[in-house]
Amino acid sequence: MRLQKYKGVIDVYTGLEIDYIPNITGPDRFKDFSLDYVIGAIHFVGNYPNGKPFSIAGKAPDFDEGLEMIFGNDFRKAAELYFKLNCELIQNQTPDILAHSDLIKNHNKGRFSENEVWYQKAVFEMLDCAKEKDVIIEVNTRGIYKNRSVEVYPSHFALKRMRELNIRTMLSADTHLITELTTGFEQAAEVLLSVGYKEVTVLKNNHFIQVPFSTKGINY
Ligand SMILES: [Zn+2]
Repeated sequence: MRLQKYKGVIDVYTGLEIDYIPNITGPDRFKDFSLDYVIGAIHFVGNYPNGKPFSIAGKAPDFDEGLEMIFGNDFRKAAELYFKLNCELIQNQTPDILAHSDLIKNHNKGRFSENEVWYQKAVFEMLDCAKEKDVIIEVNTRGIYKNRSVEVYPSHFALKRMRELNIRTMLSADTHLITELTTGFEQAAEVLLSVGYKEVTVLKNNHFIQVPFSTKGINY
């Protein structure tokens, strides 16, 4: 009944953020679900010696333990694999949208600078994959309002390159609550405008379309 109340007022689409874990799961598993859109995501990078996938979306002590056990404390190795998996997801099981595309930076905590050449190279290679498959990369504000990252996902330098490559982008709060539906959008819009974006992608009448935006919202 609640849906009836907003019939003709709000369009409701069905989508999922789907994990890609090689040989275990990915967007292809949900092909028969008739989803309106698919967001592809990487939350697991490598495996513990017992075969259990290693989550990079958890708390710091768990991440530190996995980093030590699986990557011998080499953050660069974990980060490079993370971005490579994003690329693999895009190439093998192309989603409409790529989720929080530099989530692993939450665990940086002074381990490295995002200005380092190896890091930017890994990010740029992922962006090339997205460009090649015409995947939309979301600007995700969850990290900033949950105090997990200083910048939105992905960081400013990546958004700048996305703009240069003409990769479509859209706003996402990655909300788990109704009260967070648009949290951080003003800040995200500011960053997008600063790198030259003039339009964001929205889903309308079951099609992704480009619409102008400002820090006050979208116009369509
Ligand atoms: Zn996620």
